[in-house]
Amino acid sequence: MIGAGAAGLRAAIELAESGTQVLCVAKRRRDDAHTSLAAGGINAALATMDPEDTWQQHAADTIAEAYELADPAVVELLAREAPAAIDDLVRYGAEFAREDDGRLSQRYFGAHTYRRTCFAGDYTGREIQRTLVRRATDLGVRIRDDIYVTRLLVHEGRIFGAYGFDVEDGTRDVLLADAVILAAGGHTRIWRRSSSRRDENTGDAMRLAAEAGCRLRDMELVQFHPTGMIWPEDSAGTLVTEAVRGEGGILRNADGERFMESYDPERLELSTRDRIALANYTEIAEGRGTEAGGVLLDISHLDRETVLERLPRMYRQFIDVAMLDITQTPMEVAPTAHYSMGGVWVEAKTHRTDVEGLYAVGECATGLHGANRLGGNSLVECIVFGKIVGAEAARWSASLDVTVRDRSAIAAASDEVSGLLAQRGGEEFARPLQRAVRDLMSECAGVVRSASGLTEGLERLDAIAGRIGTMEVRPDIAGFDDLAHAFDLKGSVLAARATLDCALERSETRGAHNRLDFPGLDPALTVNLLWRHGEPVAREAVGKPSAEVAALLDGRDDVDVSGRLLE
Ligand SMILES: Cc1cc2nc3c(=O)[nH]c(=O)nc-3n(C[C@H](O)[C@H](O)[C@H](O)COP(=O)(O)OP(=O)(O)OC[C@H]3O[C@@H](n4cnc5c(N)ncnc54)[C@H](O)[C@@H]3O)c2cc1C
Repeated sequence: MIGAGAAGLRAAIELAESGTQVLCVAKRRRDDAHTSLAAGGINAALATMDPEDTWQQHAADTIAEAYELADPAVVELLAREAPAAIDDLVRYGAEFAREDDGRLSQRYFGAHTYRRTCFAGDYTGREIQRTLVRRATDLGVRIRDDIYVTRLLVHEGRIFGAYGFDVEDGTRDVLLADAVILAAGGHTRIWRRSSSRRDENTGDAMRLAAEAGCRLRDMELVQFHPTGMIWPEDSAGTLVTEAVRGEGGILRNADGERFMESYDPERLELSTRDRIALANYTEIAEGRGTEAGGVLLDISHLDRETVLERLPRMYRQFIDVAMLDITQTPMEVAPTAHYSMGGVWVEAKTHRTDVEGLYAVGECATGLHGANRLGGNSLVECIVFGKIVGAEAARWSASLDVTVRDRSAIAAASDEVSGLLAQRGGEEFARPLQRAVRDLMSECAGVVRSASGLTEGLERLDAIAGRIGTMEVRPDIAGFDDLAHAFDLKGSVLAARATLDCALERSETRGAHNRLDFPGLDPALTVNLLWRHGEPVAREAVGKPSAEVAALLDGRDDVDVSGRLLE
C-alpha cells in the first residue's frame, strides 16, 4: 500500500480484515496526510434529512455536474456503496455531527439536490483520518510513514513490489508484494498557488504509475478553487473557505469595484466555483488586481463577533500566518489549484490499472469527477473504492501460484537513487527547479489556457527537465529531504508534461478546463484523454448511465447552488 491518507488506510483495513498481510508506506506522517485538510464533509444518500434522497439521485447529480466526462460505472458504484462506507466509518468510531434525535446530520453541499453531506464540524478530514489510523492500528496494520517510494517494481507487465528509501537515514527498502495499491494523491502542488502543502501532491502517483507502464487519463482536468491566500509566500494557495462568501464576503478589485456584478449579477459572490475562479482570474489578468496579484475579499462589514463565531478557522489562519485581522482588513485572494480530477487510468469496478496486480485509488485515480468535482465526493471515493481495491488486491494475491522477482528491475531502481546521490558539485538544486515548474504551470496552464501558452509551457518544461541532470542532491545530518525533493521534482515534471499535452489536445472549454482560443464546448471531445509518455494523446469513449439514472438526468433541473459550500 503506497499512501496513508483516507484511500490507502481504508484499503489497508480491508486487506487486514481479510487476513492478508499488508504494509502501508507513506512519505509523510500518518496523522498529517493531505486528507486531514479536508473540511466540509463526505457525501452519501443516507436520506436522514431528506427522505426523498436515493443513490440514483446522488449518481445523477454527480454525472450532471461532470460535463459528460465522468464514467457512469464508477459514479453509480460510488453512489450505491456510499451509505455502507459511512456505516463503516461510524462503526470504526468516527464522530460525525448528529441531530438531537441521534440521526446523522447531513447538509447541503454544492450542486447536490438533497442534503447528503455528513460532517464533523469543519474538521471532517481530520476526524476520518484519525478514525482510520486508529482502526488500522487496532487491526495490526504495519504503517511506515518514513518511506519515500521511488519506483514500482514490475516484471513483464506484472507488479512485484516497490522500491524506496527511508527519509530519515536514507536506508534503501525493497518492498516485495503480490499486489500494490497506489493511493499517493494528486498533482496540484505543481502550480504556484495550491491548496496542498509543500511536498505533497507533487505528482508522485502519476510518475510511479506511468513509469510502470500505466496510462494516465484526463490530466488536464484540474479544479481551481476561486479563493486561495496569496501571501505570505509560504502560504500561497492555502484555501480561503467558501464559507467566507457564504457569510456575506464581498469581492472587489483594486479599483474598489464589486466585479461579480458584471460576471453574475444575480448570484454575485454566491455564483458557482468555476465562474468565480474565472472572474477572479480575469480581473487579475486584465490588470485590475492588487499589487501582490490578487483581488480583495472583504468581510470587515460584519461585526467582529459574527466573524469570530462563524469563521473562527479563517480568523485564526490569517492572524497566524499573515498577522492580518480579517474583521478589519480585506483578505487578498486568487484562484488556487485544488483537486486533480485526472490521474491514473483505472478499470471502473475493480480500479485495476494497466499493470497486473497494481491498483490505484483516491485522488490519484480517475473516473468519478469528469471535468468538475462535486464537493464532498472525494472523501467518499476514498472510502468506497479503498474498500473495493482492498478486496480486489486480496483476491489477486490469493490467486497467485508463483511470484517472480526481477533482479534487473530492482537494480534499475537502485541505480536511479544512486545516480541522483552521485550528482555532487552540480549547479542546480531541486527546490528552485520545482519553483520553475510551478511558475510555468501557473503562467501557461492555469485557470485559462491557450495553444500558444501551452506550447510555451512544454518548451520551458523541456529546458527544466534538461537541468535535472546537473542537479546537486546532498543529504545532510537532518535527513534525506534533498533526495525526496529530487524525486518530487521528477514527479512534478512528468505530471506537468502529461497535463500540458492533454490540455493542448482538449481544444475546447469544458468544466474546469478553459481555452481562450476555443471558448465553446466541442461535442467531438466528449471523450476521456489517455496519456502515455512519448505517444500521441489517445481518446476513450465515455460510457452510458443505467436507465434509472438516465431517467433522472433527463428530468433534472439545474440545482441552485447559492450559498452552498463546495469544498
Ligand atoms: C483544504 C481542502 C479541503 C478539502 N475538503 C474536502 C471536503 O470537504 N470533502 C471532500 O470530499 N474532499 C475534500 N478535499 C479533497 C480531499 O481531502 C482529498 O481528495 C482526499 O483527502 C485525498 O485522499 P487520498 O487518500 O487519495 O490522498 P492523500 O490524503 O493525499 O494521501 C496521499 C498519501 O500518499 C503518500 N505519498 C505520496 N507520495 C508518496 C511517495 N512517493 N512515497 C510514499 N508515500 C507517498 C502521502 O504521504 C500520503 O500518505 C479537500 C482538500 C483540501 C486541500
